[in-house]
Amino acid sequence: LDPTNGSFNTEDLDIEKKLRPLSFDDFTGQENVLENLKVFVEAANFRNEALDHTLFHGPPGLGKTTLANILANELGVGIKITSGPVLDKPGDLAGLLTNLEERDVLFIDEIHRLSPVVEEYLYSAMEDFKIDIMIESGPNARTVQINLNPFTLVGATTRSGLLTAPMRARFGIHSRLHYYSTELLTTIVERSSAILKMPIAMEAAIEIAGRSRGTPRIANALLRRVRDFAQIKGNGTIDVEIAKYALKALHVDAHGLDEMDNKILTTIIDKFKGGPVGITTLATAVSENGETIEEVYEPFLIQEGFIVRTPRGREATEKAYKHLGKVKGYNQGE
Ligand code: ADP
Repeated sequence: LDPTNGSFNTEDLDIEKKLRPLSFDDFTGQENVLENLKVFVEAANFRNEALDHTLFHGPPGLGKTTLANILANELGVGIKITSGPVLDKPGDLAGLLTNLEERDVLFIDEIHRLSPVVEEYLYSAMEDFKIDIMIESGPNARTVQINLNPFTLVGATTRSGLLTAPMRARFGIHSRLHYYSTELLTTIVERSSAILKMPIAMEAAIEIAGRSRGTPRIANALLRRVRDFAQIKGNGTIDVEIAKYALKALHVDAHGLDEMDNKILTTIIDKFKGGPVGITTLATAVSENGETIEEVYEPFLIQEGFIVRTPRGREATEKAYKHLGKVKGYNQGE
């Protein structure tokens, strides 16, 4: 399973949409974030103003896009969705901005990947709700300033560290999303099963939740695969036996670590004697992009106590050795 994209085909994408919570009440977990957002939304609604620009950061699949949509719903406004790498030129952005109605939400995913010119262009839009646009061309070319409707920019990033300081400063609300506990993910799995009209035993929901890498997107993706097994190999309901059987067939391990997680741990232990090893060296050794390791894999491995970050690099912990059935100090591999 790819945690950057737990989906496999278009049918899955449709289902993912169906499973997406639409209101604050529908959304499970991230309590502190939600509590604050509710206040800010209520205040903005009360004053009939646009909500302050809002930045969500955290690993993929934790609900940033979902929350952007919920904000628009709770504000009772429209939402336009785009992403950093898609916005090539200021012109692309101008088109979107000038089409926003009062208080609308503009959601920019992967906002840390905006090109510098587009980013700069966004500053005055965010700050003064004004942009310069170029009219005519050749000798008559000139820029005119136009006013935008007050809007809310919602940005999402997996790496707030990569956001420039001026960009970051233009957001009034900063919310960091955290990995979900097994308990919360169990609730999410049960909710999703109900939407899919698929009966599920509580132990089965716990089993799936515990192996979902703390991530709702993965929990939903696993549920859909387990559902396939239950319908084809089982009796049409998800009991704990079929859940375990399916998860085994899907090669999801007991901690929910996926292939790349395990590859990272194995590499640190076998090739680098348990570390410390620098991120670039590690990335080359596992043939993965260093940024992806830092954004997607490492945060979970650190949270779950499989690796630690030291000034000299990443080190595998006792727990990692145990998980892989290896003995520390015993020189494996090399
Ligand atoms: P991100 O934008 O952070 O990558 P998404 O908002 O796209 O993540 O969430 C991925 C999927 O996980 C969504 O389709 C949604 O169904 C589910 N999801 C995320 N957060 C929650 C939540 N708190 N409760 C229920 N489902 C959630």
